[in-house]
Amino acid sequence: MIEVIFADYARPACGCPPLDRYSFGGVFLALLQKGWDARCVNLAAKNGKDSPRREGPAEVCCYAIFFGNKANAFLHMENARRLPKPPRLIIAFGPFASVFSDEILLSGLADIVVKDDPEFVIPAVLEGRSPLKTVPNISYRHEGTIIHTVKHSFPNLDEIPFIGPYFYNQGHPRAFLMTARGCQHHCVFCDRNVHWGGGLRYRSVANVLDEVRDLVENNQAGEIELLDEDFAADQKRLTAICAGMRRIKGQFFWACSACVSSVNKKMLFLMGRSACREIYFGVESASPAVLHRLGKRYSRQDILNAVRWSQEAGLKVEVMITVDNPGETEQDRNLTLSALKELGPDVKVSTNRLVILPGTALYREGLRKGWFTRQSFFEDEGLVFYGDKRQEAAYGR
Ligand code: SF4
Repeated sequence: MIEVIFADYARPACGCPPLDRYSFGGVFLALLQKGWDARCVNLAAKNGKDSPRREGPAEVCCYAIFFGNKANAFLHMENARRLPKPPRLIIAFGPFASVFSDEILLSGLADIVVKDDPEFVIPAVLEGRSPLKTVPNISYRHEGTIIHTVKHSFPNLDEIPFIGPYFYNQGHPRAFLMTARGCQHHCVFCDRNVHWGGGLRYRSVANVLDEVRDLVENNQAGEIELLDEDFAADQKRLTAICAGMRRIKGQFFWACSACVSSVNKKMLFLMGRSACREIYFGVESASPAVLHRLGKRYSRQDILNAVRWSQEAGLKVEVMITVDNPGETEQDRNLTLSALKELGPDVKVSTNRLVILPGTALYREGLRKGWFTRQSFFEDEGLVFYGDKRQEAAYGR
């Protein structure tokens, strides 16, 4: 028996909790597809539907480790080790595990860390047909040394089973779906390219539409959220998906995230005609200086255009803003506030403090400037906010 375990968030989650759950669900379904006797232990689930309680741990435990849930995941792993009959093998995967593979192995929390594409790699590890050193994307200990195997991005994402219907049938009010992995941009605070192993990879249009059809026609899903980082990154592909969405029978709408620099008026109009009803823009700031420091390559006018065109196409819009940005002054904040005012009251605005995520440019800056060490970051149980670290540095702490 193999367990795929998602420990609950210890702190208010950063990043995207549906995305984290989605990526751990993929591992569970990939194991089932390959014929393994696997169960999914979602310790975050409130209704217990996908959290079968158990007498003891399975023979193999696979832990999904993200920044927001690492403290609880580690606790669970330590407890599993102390049981009278501990698991034979503990595997860690997820973006936090990828960056801190050495620390996880040296502390004995896991036997193997899977860095990228765990849906492909974990079944290969368990099959045991090839020596570990030939399985890509893993780290493990051998005779006192840590071995890191070659990095590989598995190209065919269509091989991953449909994760959307599985989660929708756990009682989530809205279905989730991903059509691609990775992002073409490289913002200094964002860990999405760490999460997915770098590079932008797409599922085929036919495979995406098959999953949407399964959700709508077989599972009666009425709302689908596309969790892609920038759904509008490829116009040609988006046009093909929109055409397919219009052919699907059934009442449903969908929502997606996009970068303001990727959308245009024609594209948004097409999305509006194809049952898209909501769009989320990670805007962060409207100050050119702050946008530049964050690695964003768009202007205040791009933000205003993207929102106006979306509204003209009949989409509800939400913009996400970050506070405590690098070098942000009162004047920068006023520029953002005036842009938000210009967007009008129908636009939903959500704000987040800038969090330092492992593997990002901000994280590397923190290491360089001595705000933390790898070990202290690994051990810190809470979220690490950029503003706090900058203040601590200013006070010489
Ligand atoms: S555009 Fe969004 S998903 Fe892409 S790197 Fe920037 S913040 Fe991350």
